[in-house]
Amino acid sequence: MSWVTDFAPERDDLDSCVTCGLCLPFCPTFRLTGDETASPRGRLAAILAVARGEQPVDERFDEMMSFCLQCRACEPPCPSMVPYGKIQERVRAELLVQRPSLRRFLRRLVLGRGLASPTMLRTAGIGVAVAQRLGLTRLVGGPTGRSLRALRRVSLPLRPTRGRSWEPRGTPVGTVALFSGCVMDVWFTPVHEALVDVLRVAGYRVVAPASQVCCGALAAHDGAAFDAVRMAAHNVRAFAEVDLVVVDAAGCGAHLRDYGHWVDGGAELAAKTVDATVLVARLLDDGALPELEGDRGEVAVQDPCHLRHAQRIVEEPRRVLRAAGYVPVEIDDLGLCCGAAGIYGLSYPDTSAELGRRKAAQVRDSGASVVASANPGCELQLRGHLDVGIEVRHPIELYRDALLDELTA
Ligand code: SF4
Ligand code: SF4
Repeated sequence: MSWVTDFAPERDDLDSCVTCGLCLPFCPTFRLTGDETASPRGRLAAILAVARGEQPVDERFDEMMSFCLQCRACEPPCPSMVPYGKIQERVRAELLVQRPSLRRFLRRLVLGRGLASPTMLRTAGIGVAVAQRLGLTRLVGGPTGRSLRALRRVSLPLRPTRGRSWEPRGTPVGTVALFSGCVMDVWFTPVHEALVDVLRVAGYRVVAPASQVCCGALAAHDGAAFDAVRMAAHNVRAFAEVDLVVVDAAGCGAHLRDYGHWVDGGAELAAKTVDATVLVARLLDDGALPELEGDRGEVAVQDPCHLRHAQRIVEEPRRVLRAAGYVPVEIDDLGLCCGAAGIYGLSYPDTSAELGRRKAAQVRDSGASVVASANPGCELQLRGHLDVGIEVRHPIELYRDALLDELTA
């Protein structure tokens, strides 16, 4: 038996790999193990063997695929432009059907249903806020406990952005829609608020459509393809009336910009979606936002995989940080994954923790007391592995703080 779902990997995509191996040095799981079966080339060979009916979708195949972080670091160096992320999402859809398990079923419920439900998200947000105040997060062990303790203090009452709008400060120049996301809108609201502040100063009216839902990235990465399609279709409708959509979470942005693979109308939404650092860098270049005076010191830059590898966005976060008066410091890591990778830590806690420790060591070695990261999962992973005293902030927050300092000086 080969593939059984409508989401099977496309043969042309698989055949585009010329087995050159140029991707291998960039793959975190290959670097950790030195094992060809944990490399992009090895995984693609196994997927092709299944497509040809030469190999079953068995436990070994499942393990080879599931060990992949879906970080997409193998895509930029690939001379054949193999769409590895898309292939892997389709393999996961096959695994959900061909390798059913209770864990997969529960993950699908949470990622495919729970994250799309504003009620569930609000409940989770309030639950975490209460647990933080009662000190209960200390009682949770493992990677979940580490992530919970690494969360910012969640505000009570919650301050979700979905359904709200903000008027520009000064002369209006246009309207931009904010992609609120799922956990971003309950646990990372300060990042949204910073972005809204900056865009208002640049003259934008900001709207966060009430009918938007989770982007579906985590569902897609875990094989819940039908749920991912449903969420994508929902968002295509929610953002149909706007010309520009801004996203401040790298994982959501990468997935929205891949919507063309997922749903009719997805390519149109993808084309008008822009990462927050790209939009702010553009506004700086146009003179709509100021280059700020002052020396705020060094900031280590962590490149989220779904910003650097999936969207190829590297310069813009640094541009924004320089404009805020910081000196960006490279952590010289080839942009290797920090090990967060969505919910990877639940399945492979040791690998996730090892990558997290390595990334934290690189940040520490930089000597900076602040690290900038533009993705919520990376933020949690970094804070979970860093010493108290090294701040983890979104680049837009650092720019907003400097901007408000200047405006109120
Ligand atoms: S997505 Fe990341 S972990 Fe998976 S094969 Fe590519 S580089 Fe390796
Ligand atoms: S770099 Fe591209 S073509 Fe070469 S082995 Fe990796 S995926 Fe295949």
